[in-house]
Amino acid sequence: MRTIYLALVTCVYSLLNGEVLTATDVPDTPYVLVLGTAQDGGYPQAGCEKQCCQSLRSSGTTGSHVTSLGIIDPISKQRWIIDCTPDFPAQLSLLDKYAPSKQKRKPVSGIFLTHAHVGHYAGLINLGREIMGTQGVPVSAMPRCKTFLETQGPWSLLVKLNNIKLLPLKADVPITLNSRLTITPFLVPHRDEFSETVGFVIAGPDRKVLFIPDIDKWEKWDRRIEQQITSVDRAYLDGTFFDNAELPGRDISQIPHPFISESITRFAKLPDSQRDKVHFIHLNHTNAALKPNSQAQRTVAEAGMHIAQQLSIFKL
Ligand SMILES: [Zn+2]
Ligand SMILES: [Zn+2]
Ligand SMILES: [Zn+2]
Repeated sequence: MRTIYLALVTCVYSLLNGEVLTATDVPDTPYVLVLGTAQDGGYPQAGCEKQCCQSLRSSGTTGSHVTSLGIIDPISKQRWIIDCTPDFPAQLSLLDKYAPSKQKRKPVSGIFLTHAHVGHYAGLINLGREIMGTQGVPVSAMPRCKTFLETQGPWSLLVKLNNIKLLPLKADVPITLNSRLTITPFLVPHRDEFSETVGFVIAGPDRKVLFIPDIDKWEKWDRRIEQQITSVDRAYLDGTFFDNAELPGRDISQIPHPFISESITRFAKLPDSQRDKVHFIHLNHTNAALKPNSQAQRTVAEAGMHIAQQLSIFKL
């Protein structure tokens, strides 16, 4: 029976993208599953008539869901997600396909929110009475984000009806998920209209993952990103825009992010082994690095780094 289970799990993992697990790997290791790699608006994005999104629509090619990570423990059958995006319905289907759970009224063991920009929490509407009607799904958020959800409709109704149970996050205080996994939020500078913004470190039995989908600029942070990369095994980092030529007609200083081109320059001083950990995520629909085999993707690869791929996994 165990042999069949091993073969099945190995098969599922190799189907994902061949990135990590092999037949000799132990299949019960907890892992992170990339559920989406696009910026808040997704890819393709509503109303975009430019080549970036029109070519996807005309070819019928699937784009990418909004950025979210799943954290899965195959032994306990628990699964958590970081951020609840507008693509939550499709992302929950992916979780159900690759890491099924029997608890239908409680689709995940917990949700961790980075901040209150729409791409990161608006999927919570799916948990409400009109849709899933979940019961007490733990949603962990920083203090301002928690107050925002408690006091503003429609989110406040989710709280009132106990569809979700809000839990407080505190910067730099680890939360124990189970005996093998912890998650720790940390503050980053970002446009904080409704909430603080955090990134997370997810730690498993053997490895750690850094997740920073949104940050203004590396230089604005009171921590050195290089040091943070060194302290983990994989880093999913803000790759919203490739460079400043990307949004003609819009004041890009109002929506600051570290351009991938800036990160490439900054990280060039790091050893190969550190740069190899970097996987850019949260790509805007205009970012050419979303396109397979684009010059932008080649530039990232030549710099020894990567673009995060939806459905790729990383063992913890
Ligand atoms: Zn975002
Ligand atoms: Zn577009
Ligand atoms: Zn944001």
